[in-house]
Amino acid sequence: NKNYAHATGSIPNVSFEEIGGQEQAKKELKEALDFLIHREQISYYGIRPIKGILLSGPPGTGKTLMAKAAAHYTNSIFVSASGSEFVEKYVGIGAQRIRELFQHARKQAKKQQKSSAIVFIDEIDVIGGKREGSQHKEYDQTLNQLLTEMDGITTDQDVFVLVIAATNRKDMLDSALLRPGRFDRHITVNLPDKKARKQILELHIRNKPLAEDVNIEQIAKETFGFSGAQLESLTNEAAIYAMREKKKKIEHRHFSLAIDKVMMGEKIDRDTTQ
Ligand code: ATP
Repeated sequence: NKNYAHATGSIPNVSFEEIGGQEQAKKELKEALDFLIHREQISYYGIRPIKGILLSGPPGTGKTLMAKAAAHYTNSIFVSASGSEFVEKYVGIGAQRIRELFQHARKQAKKQQKSSAIVFIDEIDVIGGKREGSQHKEYDQTLNQLLTEMDGITTDQDVFVLVIAATNRKDMLDSALLRPGRFDRHITVNLPDKKARKQILELHIRNKPLAEDVNIEQIAKETFGFSGAQLESLTNEAAIYAMREKKKKIEHRHFSLAIDKVMMGEKIDRDTTQ
């Protein structure tokens, strides 16, 4: 569907092994996904299926990766969109787009003979923020359409659709979204601790030529507060420094330079946005 820049409709090539750290979040997510995998057993016991999972946590901590890994793990078609894509000038357009996104997911699943699809909605707070004061009709219709789609999910016998939403402002969400039968599983994704940072760094240097002096433990120690996305960026920047100097291998000092660069970048972002 051309409306969605990143709605794909295929099974992602990302597994949970490619996500560093986040042990607790991965465990909780897999437990919830086992409901989807064992749908028949769940319905035998009369257990309500899980329709929505909310991932919350700071930017760049791997929420999108987790949603993709969830689709990989459950052999589900993956489609995604960001909350901001549904914000339109005209009332009803956002709701129509939600409808199309779900249709697209079901259609792709049927076409590829898969029994489930995962719809990932990033920045859910944009359409599902608390309703206060002057309400915006457009946002309400969009949110209502999402809830309607979620409520109707079990009526399609052929394809089960699970919605995974991400936000870094869970406190801003409308309580209608968090009710049982909607996003009733909440998984928190945190900034990585030192051990997790080391794991993430190791994942991202796998394909890079490293000099012997590179001390990943040390780099993990010096990157307190970095997100997974920043760590990925750091390994990339280090490689660029080495290439510029025409070195065959990436050395420890290239990583040191890259740490400064990523930290600086953050500082510049902050200074210009405040
Ligand atoms: P945002 O809230 O900004 O959308 P996000 O939480 O969805 O961010 P991702 O888009 O999943 O974050 O992460 C961006 C990139 O950062 C990933 O493609 C990956 O390269 C890297 N990354 C983030 N977290 C991890 C992790 N835990 N392990 C490995 N790589 C990670």
